[in-house]
Amino acid sequence: MEAMSSEHATDAAAATPTIFERIIAREIPADIVLETERLIAIRDIAPQAPVHLLVIPKTAQHRTVAELAAADPALLAEVVATAQRLADEHADGDYRLVFNSGANAGQTVFHVHAHVLAGGLDEGSLAH
Ligand code: AMP
Repeated sequence: MEAMSSEHATDAAAATPTIFERIIAREIPADIVLETERLIAIRDIAPQAPVHLLVIPKTAQHRTVAELAAADPALLAEVVATAQRLADEHADGDYRLVFNSGANAGQTVFHVHAHVLAGGLDEGSLAH
């Protein structure tokens, strides 16, 4: 049997690995703050808050949070629990959780990921 990853087999768009797949595969470096069997968390390379982390499911099968929620709600719950844990560890436990969904909402990497923003955020600055 060909040992092709099922993560790559179904979605033509996934034929070219995203930057997150390459980080997960250790092909390019990142500041990894947490890793479990099913997800990884890294520091965002262009932080928009004092603490700006990305929680990224390892599977490349889901492009958006809605796709993830429909296909694997337990994994989405793990993403959310991880966001809380990271906010506890890296800030005071308070955080904003952002999933950009679609290019017109600012999504640039089409591999679902949560932005965990923490460390003292202003009110009234959800979007510009
Ligand atoms: P989005 O715009 O929601 O798709 O989020 C993608 C995020 O990935 C952006 O906030 C980028 O700054 C971040 N990013 C892109 N490349 C890297 C990288 N090599 N290491 C860490 N974060 C990255």
